Amino acid sequence: MLELILQILSSMNISKQCTHDKINPGLEQAYCPDCGKLIRNEWYITRCACCGVKMKAFVKNGEVVAQDHYCTNCGSEEYIVEKLDGINFIDINFAALLKREVEPEHICSTTRCWQEKRVEQPKLLVQYL
Ligand SMILES: [Zn+2]
Ligand SMILES: [Zn+2]
Repeated sequence: MLELILQILSSMNISKQCTHDKINPGLEQAYCPDCGKLIRNEWYITRCACCGVKMKAFVKNGEVVAQDHYCTNCGSEEYIVEKLDGINFIDINFAALLKREVEPEHICSTTRCWQEKRVEQPKLLVQYL
């Protein structure tokens, strides 16, 4: 019974929080067709903090973590998270894609700039008259 309630709760959470699955990972950023938010694709890898060997990364609860608990090269438990400027075919085997929502204020100010620019053009006003 308890398991059933937990299952329902977790399925509710999934439907509420958009995972932005339709965003193309090849793009730097795009608007999500499901929720309308501006999503930026950020690639991360994890490295062993001891020997620097790349460790496979994945996203857990919105955070980038290493998939292995210990480094396969030196056995260290510590790792560092490194942000990539872009993705390439070597790193893609290790990298985790974090779909970060761009702050709403940022979107608003960009929109306002656009509107002000339009009004400043006298030609447009003449056309409307
Ligand atoms: Zn979305
Ligand atoms: Zn190591």
